[in-house]
Amino acid sequence: MQINENFSAAARSRNLAQMGTENFDVLVVGGGIQGATIAWATARRGLRVALVETADWGAGASANSLKIIHGGLRYLQHANLVRMRESIRARRRIIQLAPATVEPLACIMPGRGWGLRNPLALLAALTANAVLSADRNRGAPANRRLPAGRLISRRALEAAFPLGIFRDESAGMVWYDAIAQDIDRLTLAFVEAAANFGAVTANYAKATQWLRDGDKVVGAAVEDTLTGLRHEVRATHVVCSAGPGTLALSPNAGAPRWVKAINLVLKKPLVQDYALAIESKCEYRDSNALIQRGHRNFFVVPWQGGTMVGTLYVPYDPAKDPLPATAGEILELMKQVNETGFLPPIQPGDICRVHSGAQAAGKQDTEPATQTQVLRAAPGLWVVQGVKYTTALETADDVADRLARGRRRPADEPLPWREPPQDLAALVAQAVDSEMAVRLEDVIMRRSHLGFFGLPDEATVTSCADAMARRLGWDVARREAEIAALRQAHSLPPLGE
Ligand SMILES: Cc1cc2nc3c(=O)[nH]c(=O)nc-3n(C[C@H](O)[C@H](O)[C@H](O)COP(=O)(O)OP(=O)(O)OC[C@H]3O[C@@H](n4cnc5c(N)ncnc54)[C@H](O)[C@@H]3O)c2cc1C
Repeated sequence: MQINENFSAAARSRNLAQMGTENFDVLVVGGGIQGATIAWATARRGLRVALVETADWGAGASANSLKIIHGGLRYLQHANLVRMRESIRARRRIIQLAPATVEPLACIMPGRGWGLRNPLALLAALTANAVLSADRNRGAPANRRLPAGRLISRRALEAAFPLGIFRDESAGMVWYDAIAQDIDRLTLAFVEAAANFGAVTANYAKATQWLRDGDKVVGAAVEDTLTGLRHEVRATHVVCSAGPGTLALSPNAGAPRWVKAINLVLKKPLVQDYALAIESKCEYRDSNALIQRGHRNFFVVPWQGGTMVGTLYVPYDPAKDPLPATAGEILELMKQVNETGFLPPIQPGDICRVHSGAQAAGKQDTEPATQTQVLRAAPGLWVVQGVKYTTALETADDVADRLARGRRRPADEPLPWREPPQDLAALVAQAVDSEMAVRLEDVIMRRSHLGFFGLPDEATVTSCADAMARRLGWDVARREAEIAALRQAHSLPPLGE
């Protein structure tokens, strides 16, 4: 497997002061996967790029994704073959760009009855998928190739899910998608790759307002949220991919309605070799589907020896609702998953982390948008609202083609990749010196695997805080504040027993 281990010095530091001193071709606001891929796609075409993120790289919706790199099988139900092909292309590219972390994921949907889950309907879906994804493995390393899907018998289904509680399931559909084992480092890898192509990048840098020359947006005022210093960053094109943060900058350009999307993370392995698609009992009308399934699917995904379960969508108003999932929302998702009756019930005590992120709403306020928006909001200003982690890359190339007219897209090369060291001191040194980690939360939740299953134990938190305090010269008050902020952001609300 080929892994690019080159990192430029530029990828290693926050370069906010430097940003104020030059005129860029492109300023990207928002360092989730959408902004990171736009910075990468424009920088590698030779444009001079600046990228700012108000919190840490990928800390918004991107860190909270279920981590599935989808080939868009469900878009068959929408008869949206263009979107499905886009997802298949994007999945193939991400596997090739980051083979160290993006792996094949075997998935099963149990089949029964006479509706869309009837084995014949599943067979038709598999056949369409085989045709549409015939090129899915082009250029993939041997151990990252996605096998063809197949129908399996009830007996094979029972063998695949030893904990499964079977009723009238008569068969199962097996298909292959991919999973990003470490989604935070994948987002970071795009930022680092952009920096390797000369992009100037800074996390904890908030765009507070647009700079204008008449009607034209010519940059942004950017506040260093660690020091409070204000910088003016000028660029020919400004691209805003700040998720719900777009609304504060351009109230009329961002998505008008939002949903909160929620996943549960359990240490307990509910499934092992296969991700499971199970049907919720709650009625649901998919506003994009040609043929209604009548119920939403939940995914139960084996991950790092534990399980991720999702996704529940609830209405969300960025101006007034808290983004972390409330106890009521967490318990509602747990209840809906338990009601499927297919797996042993999840107990509140099994839940150790909850992913919660904002997504643009679709036609209803309990479903995410399915259509990416690339909008020329004003002269000089583009607003980009992606809808999937998987397809951010394709959207980024579309944006880059518009901004870098006439410049060729270079061939893809594997992204820079390194694993987090096991040793805590080495981990902190790498994260602080080379990966722009400046907060305790950055190291614990996104530069390492320590927070995969929620807050680690007290001793790990304090040792990590001590190592960061030494490296960054924190005084006692700052060290305490960092520990408190970590706890406040990542403790679960009381869920009962
Ligand atoms: C629970 C859940 C499960 C999901 N599962 C999947 C999945 O399995 N597969 C998949 O493909 N997709 C999935 N998605 C969707 C996917 O995660 C999102 O579509 C994607 O991450 C959005 O990326 P983004 O960069 O547009 O937004 P974000 O990641 O939210 O990034 C926007 C960034 O802008 C920053 N920002 C805001 N305001 C400012 C400002 N003023 N200045 C500078 N920066 C600012 C924010 O801090 C944030 O980091 C899921 C989403 C959720 C929430």
